[in-house]
Formats: sequence, C-alpha cells, structure tokens
Amino acid sequence: MSDSCLFCKIIAGQIPSKKVYEDDRLFAFDDINPQAPMHVLVVPKTHVATLNDLAKAHDDLVGAMVRTAAQIAKQRGHDGPGYRTVFNCNAQAGQTVFHIHLHVLGGRVMTWPPG
Ligand code: AMP
Ligand code: ZN
Repeated sequence: MSDSCLFCKIIAGQIPSKKVYEDDRLFAFDDINPQAPMHVLVVPKTHVATLNDLAKAHDDLVGAMVRTAAQIAKQRGHDGPGYRTVFNCNAQAGQTVFHIHLHVLGGRVMTWPPG
C-alpha cells in the first residue's frame, strides 16, 4: 500500500466507495464521475502505479482484472450489446490516479476513436 494513493485508501476502506466486487487480489467499485450508465473501476489490491510498471509476475493478476471486468459487464447485461474497457497510462492518455485501474463502461453507444 502507498500512503499517498487514493485507490490504496479506497481498498483499505479509509475512503468510502460503492463496492462492486472484491476477492483476495482485486477490488472493484463505481467511478465517482461516471462516463456511462455503467462505469466501474477494477483495481488490483497491490499498488502498481502505471502499466509501465507491470512485470511478468503480474500477468496472472492482469488477466484476472480483465476477466473480472467481463464478469461485471455480463452480470449487468452488457455482454451482448457490448461494453468498453480502458487502461489509461500516464498524462497524455488522461491517467489521473497512479494506481492501475481498468475502466469498465457500458450502457450506451461508444464512439471511436476515443477522445
Ligand atoms: P484515470 O483518469 O484513468 O486515472 O481514472 C481515474 C478515475 O478515478 C476517474 O474516472 C475518476 O472519476 C475516478 N475517481 C477519482 N476519485 C474517485 C473516488 N474517490 N471514487 C471513485 N472513483 C474515483
Ligand atoms: Zn495504490
């Protein structure tokens, strides 16, 4: 855990969140500023700042993040119509919280290319 990290504090329960899913490695909660009817963030409980900091040892963890995102989307009926998953990495991509998180967005038509 990083003392200065917002998402580490959410995982530890020091900052409130609307929990969607939790297991021994992952925590998922509603985004505070949703960009779609479903906007969930899936985060690992271990602190990893950006995608650039991932190592081979994280492969299984990242796979679990993606599968959990798919499960949450399916539970909410977005698997058929479709949904979007996004990792932002560093400033130019719009990353504002430096603890990796997978955005899971659904419930509306998405445009491409993203902004
Ligand atoms: P990113 O811009 O990819 O780093 O995404 C960070 C996300 O965290 C944004 O979509 C924010 O709306 C969201 N966020 C920031 N603070 C909170 C919070 N306290 N609870 C839930 N989501 C948050
Ligand atoms: Zn953190």
